[in-house]
Amino acid sequence: MATVETRGVRKHFGHVRAVDGVDLETREGEFLVLLGPSGCGKTTLLRMIAGLEQPTAGEILIGGEVVNDLPPRARKIAMVFQSYALYPHMTVFDNIAFPLKAQGVPRAEIPKKVEWAASLFGITPLLGRRPRQLSGGERQRVALARALVREPAVFLLDEPLSNLDAKLRASARDELQQFQRRIGTTTIYVTHDQVEAMGLGDRIAVMEGGRVRQIGTPQEVYDEPADTFVAGFLGSPPMNLVDAGDVLVGFRPEHLLPREAHEGGPLVAFPFRVTRVEYLGADRLLYGTLEGRFAGARVIAKLPSTIATPFALDRVAEFAVREKDLRFFDRTTGLRAAARAL
Ligand code: ATP
Repeated sequence: MATVETRGVRKHFGHVRAVDGVDLETREGEFLVLLGPSGCGKTTLLRMIAGLEQPTAGEILIGGEVVNDLPPRARKIAMVFQSYALYPHMTVFDNIAFPLKAQGVPRAEIPKKVEWAASLFGITPLLGRRPRQLSGGERQRVALARALVREPAVFLLDEPLSNLDAKLRASARDELQQFQRRIGTTTIYVTHDQVEAMGLGDRIAVMEGGRVRQIGTPQEVYDEPADTFVAGFLGSPPMNLVDAGDVLVGFRPEHLLPREAHEGGPLVAFPFRVTRVEYLGADRLLYGTLEGRFAGARVIAKLPSTIATPFALDRVAEFAVREKDLRFFDRTTGLRAAARAL
């Protein structure tokens, strides 16, 4: 086991600043997720940690040691990509054994290690098959077992679940998390999928434009976003942001409720004209505009279907947000600002 640290890491491709000064430090055994939109630099950062890409500036440390000059194989890391690239002509057993042979592990020890890795992922019955005889989920488990068998100090995963369908992804996520907890290997996981990030990460580093905007537990980044980018990237639908002069006031769709549906206070009134309702099963999304001092601002409310609906379309209804659920952001910088009375 080891920690990973980046200090002022940059990577420029010509004038593209793919990674633009990232300081990160994992904890021992942590599951850290790099989350961000396409092109934000997640993969480039991971590839630099793996040693597949040289930083333009900054230092990378694994287990407290600067590894900038070490080749990938000397870094005690294992990386699994989106395309697992199993060897098609080899059996599952041989695929998993391959890195051990390459590493010069004595022949007699190989079967024991392969069986151990296979049992961790529940693929022991598949050891004699070839990749084309496996489902997508099974192939993914083989790829993970192959990465793990060398007992790396750090596990680097780049969207390893993205080839799976939605149902399989959910169960693979669950397996991956259980397995990571069991072996306790420090893991850095890249994804642009916030559901995956929230479900898997001990902490999430939210990236944009080559920088880390915020790092925190899933609950911290969701409840206390550091800026409007994080507020708008997490949550489905994202946080409402309403212009209130020199600040933007933010509130989550699930916090904008009919006044009588609130249990605690104090409340801030947001008269709401609902123009469209989308039924999602467990919830309903209400689209519309605010009235009163924020007249014209377009917002979304998310109401559990269990709450009665005391509003009519195109009429103004009394909606409100608890004062403690309001978040304030500087209008110019987008950064969090002190709470104020509205
Ligand atoms: P995705 O989720 O789409 O994979 P990402 O967050 O992983 O995106 P990167 O692949 O790290 O993003 O790319 C970051 C930026 O650097 C992008 O603008 C990309 O076009 C650019 N980039 C990445 N690799 C290279 C390269 N080898 N040469 C030039 N530009 C590159």
